[in-house]
Amino acid sequence: MLAKSELRYLRRCVELAAEALEHGDQPFGSVLVAADGRILAEDRNRVAGGDHTRHPEFELARWAAANLTLEERTAATVFTSGEHCPMCAAAHGWVGLGRIVYATSSKQLHAWLEELGVPPSPVRNLSIQEVVRDIAVEGPVPELADEIRTLHRRYRRAAAAER
Ligand SMILES: [Zn+2]
Repeated sequence: MLAKSELRYLRRCVELAAEALEHGDQPFGSVLVAADGRILAEDRNRVAGGDHTRHPEFELARWAAANLTLEERTAATVFTSGEHCPMCAAAHGWVGLGRIVYATSSKQLHAWLEELGVPPSPVRNLSIQEVVRDIAVEGPVPELADEIRTLHRRYRRAAAAER
């Protein structure tokens, strides 16, 4: 179960996802939290420029590799609005980060996008545990689902209007 105090980190992720949307990007946001509860780094999706590896979870893994000891990385938690994709899960595993808490799952996102008629992404929809060995993962958190779903709907509507 998710601690009440941890919900605020997920809420920050949703804020970052909304910020991404305001900048014309897909709505995803993530926060890296130290063992003592301090927010170490945060980012939002930045793929609108055409580089589809610019996911926030990937950026946080690289930030952690550059700025934290292995011990600090193992003790840290990544909170994220949407479950890590296989690329980000692998980066997370490679740099030895700790627990992941996500608000909505890849499975949920996949179903929502399918409803909106969005073609599947070129990367398969694997769970974090299918990609990373021995990792503590929590999610989804049902109380945030509607809000995140709405952000994805707004993004896809705006994208469809541009075509
Ligand atoms: Zn990713």
